Amino acid sequence: MQKLCDLCHGGKAIATPDNKAWQKCPLCGGSGEDSALDQYTYVIPFVYGANAYIPANQQNAPLSVQIGMGLDFECYFWNVQASGVFSATVSDGGRQYAFSNAPVHQNCGFGDAQNPALMVLRHIFRKNSSIAISFNELSGANNYGQFAFIGKNRKPAA
Ligand SMILES: [Zn+2]
Repeated sequence: MQKLCDLCHGGKAIATPDNKAWQKCPLCGGSGEDSALDQYTYVIPFVYGANAYIPANQQNAPLSVQIGMGLDFECYFWNVQASGVFSATVSDGGRQYAFSNAPVHQNCGFGDAQNPALMVLRHIFRKNSSIAISFNELSGANNYGQFAFIGKNRKPAA
C-alpha cells in the first residue's frame, strides 16, 4: 500500500497561507502519495572476499567472485594479502572489462588492510555478474592470495 503524503495526508490539496483558498499540495504534486518511497534505494556495507591458491610460477590462474543476492555491488576499496608475490588482472566479469591493460604487481595496484586502495571512481559490479581475477605467481613457490573487495550492496530503484 502506498504511503500517504506527509503534508496533505492524502487530501491532494492544502490551504493557501492566508487560508482563503486551496492549492495543489506542493510536496506530492497533488497525488496524495509519498513518492519518495518509490525512489528509495537502500545500501548495505558488504565485503566480497576471494581466496586463491596460486601454484608456483602459475600464469593466468583464474578466480571468479560471484556477485550474488540480487544486488548490485558498489566497490570502494580493494585490498590484497598473500603469502608470496604475485601480479594480477582484475576484471568486471559481467561487462568483460579489465581494470588494467596488463597484470599489475600486488604492491602497485592493490592496497592492504593498513592502506586500502581507494577506487576514486567507484565501480558498480552488476548483480549476478562476477569479479574475475587472473593471478600470475612471481615468487617461485606455492602461495595463497586473498582479495577483499569492500563496498556496498545496492538495491536499485524499481
Ligand atoms: Zn501531498
